[in-house]
Amino acid sequence: MEATARPHPGAAFDTGLRRFPNARAVALELWPDEPVYCFRPQVLAADAEAFRAAYPGRTAYAVKTNPHPLVLNTLARIGIDAFDVASPAEFRMARQAAPAADLLYMHPVKAATAIREALTAYRIRHFSLDHEGEAAKILREARGAGVPVSELTLFVRLATRGHAAYNLSRKFGAAPGHAVELLQRVARLGAQAGLCFHVGSQVEEPDAYERALKSAQWVRQRAGVPVAALDIGGGFPARYGHDRRRPAPAVPPLARLMPRIVKAIERYGFADLPLVAEPGRALVARSLSVLVRVLLRKGQRLYINDGVWGSLSDAWTGKLTLPVHLIPEPDRARPAGDPRKHAAFRIMGATCDSVDILSRPFWLPETVAAGDWIEVGHIGAYSLSLRTDFNGLYPDTFVEVESPFRS
Ligand SMILES: *Cc1c(COP(=O)(O)O)cnc(C)c1O
Repeated sequence: MEATARPHPGAAFDTGLRRFPNARAVALELWPDEPVYCFRPQVLAADAEAFRAAYPGRTAYAVKTNPHPLVLNTLARIGIDAFDVASPAEFRMARQAAPAADLLYMHPVKAATAIREALTAYRIRHFSLDHEGEAAKILREARGAGVPVSELTLFVRLATRGHAAYNLSRKFGAAPGHAVELLQRVARLGAQAGLCFHVGSQVEEPDAYERALKSAQWVRQRAGVPVAALDIGGGFPARYGHDRRRPAPAVPPLARLMPRIVKAIERYGFADLPLVAEPGRALVARSLSVLVRVLLRKGQRLYINDGVWGSLSDAWTGKLTLPVHLIPEPDRARPAGDPRKHAAFRIMGATCDSVDILSRPFWLPETVAAGDWIEVGHIGAYSLSLRTDFNGLYPDTFVEVESPFRS
């Protein structure tokens, strides 16, 4: 599933970026002192197509994961025709990249003006909710805009319990009994009733999806109203790095997970419904790396020119070990050590903030020195959308790179 990034048959994607064979060439040619994003459209296309092939429903890319036009345009180019959006700015970005695509407004709590704009300017007809107050709000806006309620599909979002790196059910989702009432209410209003959930992010255990599907079946049977669609949300895992003291997992996490999800969809009686998934991370993580520079080494600590307030906050929040590889600055004096032996280095971020320290180390050759570059791989998810200009540091240089990232 995490495809072996075969070159996409359509070959060149017109990114307009300067193109390099790999990150080493970027480092040695540009000698960059600021972070450089290395975008790989072929990898994005391969991972999106692998997901689409493995999931027996519609693939709606979650725009918040990475809304950069490079990403949205590449996805549109390979025919991704549905997007999970959460705000008017996201409607605009998705529409710009894919004018004919369907937008699904799956944020359970929305501003009335944003609902109105969704209904009128963007002709959005799919919404989620987890409370009767939100149902009333959507209904009011539809009436005000003259949109027949029967055109709407309202997805009732179920609360789930899981152990994702990030658990979102503390904030959103109706408990099963409440979801039954909401489903009945949606049907009574005359809208199409859908069911949805979102189990978290970087979910590697299939039971989170299996439990959610089981609960969805219970709700559907209890409600006794027709259910028009099931949306299983996002949360699908991407591959990251690993602690070098342990063996690397052999199978990419999505390839292990998806067959189990598909079986559970059948087991709980949803196989004949229109299905949707909203992957973000699993599609986009591998398509971007960032080339950073070591500004100073203090023993086992490396001070780099990026960090938690720049491209790396997701790794910090999710306690992810990122895959990295070293590009030594040529002709530089090095600390004693074996360049083939890897050690754990604590990574200190670029800002003056004392929380700007990564929660997991980088595994790098013992001989890493100030001036070296590190290519940090698989940072396509929740990086560009979360970077800040704190301390006046805002990485924003992009190049295209042809070969897939290798640690
Ligand atoms: C964030 C989000 C997604 C995407 O999650 P990933 O973990 O990146 O796949 C999908 N659906 C909803 C409702 C979300 O909030």
